[in-house]
Amino acid sequence: MGKTVSIYGAGLAGLVAGIHLARSGFKAVVYDREDGIGGSKQIHPSIHTTPLQPEETWDYIGMDLSSCFKRTDKYPDFWYNTKRLTLPPYVKNNTAWNAERGAQEGSLDRKLYEIALREGVEFIFNRNLTLDELRAAPAGSIIATGLYREIYDLVGVKCGTTYGYMASAPCHPGESTGALYMGDYSVDYGYSASMNGLMYVLLFSRTPLKKKKIEEFKEVLKKTEHLSFDNWHSFNGFFPRETKLHWEDKILAGTLSGMIEPFWGYGVVGALLSGKVAGLLHTDPERAEKDFRKFTAGFKAKLARKEKMDKLPFSKMFLRLSILKARYDCWRNPALKNAVREPVRWF
Ligand SMILES: Cc1cc2nc3c(=O)[nH]c(=O)nc-3n(C[C@H](O)[C@H](O)[C@H](O)COP(=O)(O)OP(=O)(O)OC[C@H]3O[C@@H](n4cnc5c(N)ncnc54)[C@H](O)[C@@H]3O)c2cc1C
Repeated sequence: MGKTVSIYGAGLAGLVAGIHLARSGFKAVVYDREDGIGGSKQIHPSIHTTPLQPEETWDYIGMDLSSCFKRTDKYPDFWYNTKRLTLPPYVKNNTAWNAERGAQEGSLDRKLYEIALREGVEFIFNRNLTLDELRAAPAGSIIATGLYREIYDLVGVKCGTTYGYMASAPCHPGESTGALYMGDYSVDYGYSASMNGLMYVLLFSRTPLKKKKIEEFKEVLKKTEHLSFDNWHSFNGFFPRETKLHWEDKILAGTLSGMIEPFWGYGVVGALLSGKVAGLLHTDPERAEKDFRKFTAGFKAKLARKEKMDKLPFSKMFLRLSILKARYDCWRNPALKNAVREPVRWF
């Protein structure tokens, strides 16, 4: 067994990093503050929707996770308050995929955990790493602790707050649906998604949501998808406002490294890729640095553009106007209708 590498966080990035290292002859030890795999029970089980380039992604991370991803029946419906927006025709060529998160059978976390155990990765649960322990971690340790504020502060990554309100309920196991919601109730957006018999909804906002706004969103869900839930709860998380691969002599991965979002790439795929980048820093550092630069190119500009748009007094109206303009462009140039214009392509 080769050198030991400690990995903090048994989420998507930490698990992929551990698997890569174990396969490369290292002893990978993954620590997590929860009592088992699947992250915080306040947040999961949940369903995440993401753009995905399956072949390229499996090829890059060195494992086929297709059993955990289900294409949504159609590209997510887009609701503006209770009005369904007709998106530009090329959207029909786009794809969106659902993945289940948490500890359950069928979840992405569980699948990665099983692969990791087979590869010989060691797990130590119930270890809430303190900031002092992280500071004193051996050189080359990988920090992949996700969306917790105190760790951003420790490693000096700028971040913003996001407030989330979520709920779930059982649904037909064959369903794989997706819908996006924008409206007067949030400066950001909400989504619904279902797969493996779980219907999940989440409303995001970068400003705290008043009770009245949450009630408005609930009404929208009833009127649009006929959804109602009785187990709503809230959480706060922190999202990165910059990208960073190194902190002192340690490696950052997943959310903490900035491999999340800009502009609707969301976080699942970024976390998987970033786990591989973190592992590669031990086996092929030059390639790791190059891949990280490629995956995070444009982050700053996209985030700045989004935040600028959000500050415009009529940002929601601009959204509707830009959809109208895209539809008009497709009408003028029918070739556009068949073009693939995914919001984010990693490869
Ligand atoms: C509610 C919610 C909904 C989301 N929806 C979507 C979506 O629809 N589509 C999408 O693409 N992305 C979505 N995301 C983003 C996606 O989940 C993340 O990008 C992805 O999980 C990041 O992976 P990670 O490995 O960085 O962190 P995580 O997967 O969050 O894992 C972090 C791990 O670190 C552990 N940990 C934290 N602190 C410590 C500590 N001090 N000591 C030890 N262990 C610690 C945690 O217990 C956890 O297991 C969503 C995120 C949330 C929170």
